[in-house]
Amino acid sequence: MNLVLFGPPGCGKGTQAKRIVAERGWVQLSTGDMLRAAKSSGSELGQRVAGIMDRGELVSDEIVIALIEERLPEAEAAGGAIFDGFPRTVAQAEALDRLLESRGTRVDVVIRLTVDEDELVQRVVRRAEQENRPDDTPEVIRTRLAVYNKQTAPLIPYYEAKGIVREVNGMGTMDEVAGAISRVLDKG
Ligand code: AMP
Repeated sequence: MNLVLFGPPGCGKGTQAKRIVAERGWVQLSTGDMLRAAKSSGSELGQRVAGIMDRGELVSDEIVIALIEERLPEAEAAGGAIFDGFPRTVAQAEALDRLLESRGTRVDVVIRLTVDEDELVQRVVRRAEQENRPDDTPEVIRTRLAVYNKQTAPLIPYYEAKGIVREVNGMGTMDEVAGAISRVLDKG
């Protein structure tokens, strides 16, 4: 199973991905987590992406596609991949389609978490306080939302054309959202 969890920054993708991992044993493929790990390790890649991430801009497609490719065998072995924060551009979505096709699979479902923009900003500000992320200041949040609307939102029609998008209201409690996601996944 290849699941794309889709939605703007702060919509709860990461939290929900972790619940699916706990419940189903699938692998969470979060390019944001991978990049943050590279950044804190001080690796060459980490140094290259640090400034871009701190400004809330997107790192290059090549970098994130390579990170995902590296982790696909692990997800296959676990029986499921949860793509979290990837793809974020149409070029990334096309690359993912090619990668999966070459392995005899495809994106099975895209769960789109819908949220209210004001609530979103509040959530990201709360998360900034809890996690101390340098890319969660109000100014950077605005950049991140603008980047999402410009570069990532075009993925909605891309996946809708394939008939694989399922909408889930992301505004409920964590349990309510998790329940709605489970129902989508159990329907197959
Ligand atoms: P996230 O935790 O998914 O919000 O990602 C944090 C930051 O990492 C983003 O603001 C981007 O700078 C970078 N990033 C994560 N995933 C991607 C991606 N798929 N494409 C480009 N940049 C990404």
